[in-house]
Amino acid sequence: MWSQALTHFTSLWLQQPCPLCDRAHPAPLCDRCWQQLQSCQWVEPPQREADALTVLTWGRYQHPLKRAIAALKYEGHRYLATPLGQALGQRWQQTPIPTRQPPWVIPIPLHPQKQRDRGFNQAALIADAFCHQTGLTLLARGLQRQRATLPQFGLGVTERQQNLANAFALGPDLLTRPQSHPILLVDDIYTTGTTVRAAAAVLRRHGWSVCGVVAIARSVSDQA
Ligand SMILES: [Zn+2]
Repeated sequence: MWSQALTHFTSLWLQQPCPLCDRAHPAPLCDRCWQQLQSCQWVEPPQREADALTVLTWGRYQHPLKRAIAALKYEGHRYLATPLGQALGQRWQQTPIPTRQPPWVIPIPLHPQKQRDRGFNQAALIADAFCHQTGLTLLARGLQRQRATLPQFGLGVTERQQNLANAFALGPDLLTRPQSHPILLVDDIYTTGTTVRAAAAVLRRHGWSVCGVVAIARSVSDQA
């Protein structure tokens, strides 16, 4: 049944043009655009951030990677998550975040309203491809997002953090598991880290160890 669904899914995107240049091409995106995306890739080792969160990203959040992520998130080209998640997985295989046990992988859940509007969670799709590449265990419902009590708009930095702190809760995939493996979070873009830190804080409060976060792109423009 799964393979049928996969075949159907595959044939759907086989007929579509490359979402970045509109050229007809039998792949999630054409070779030329994929080559151009490589210019965004960097080869820096995992970076240790505040709160003992180690961050591994595939590339720089700039054109054309920025364009590819926008096509994935806002134009419904969900199959772009596959090559991007695989590339992130290859990155992990080259320079993993060191852990005693292989981590369990949890995507950052999307706000319920956003997920309804978009129809999918891009972090979950990326995490799926990442786990397919690395062989790590995916806990798709390891975290769940509760409706934030306040809209983030108009809040100060501290208020935003407090608001986000209430946004995450343990999901059903974690409730019945022993705390034998560290958790690796997956997101599409890493900017200030506020969201992943809030997610990590909830996990740690419940006794889970969080080894870090992997993301496709890192935004560096505001850190110069
Ligand atoms: Zn293209």
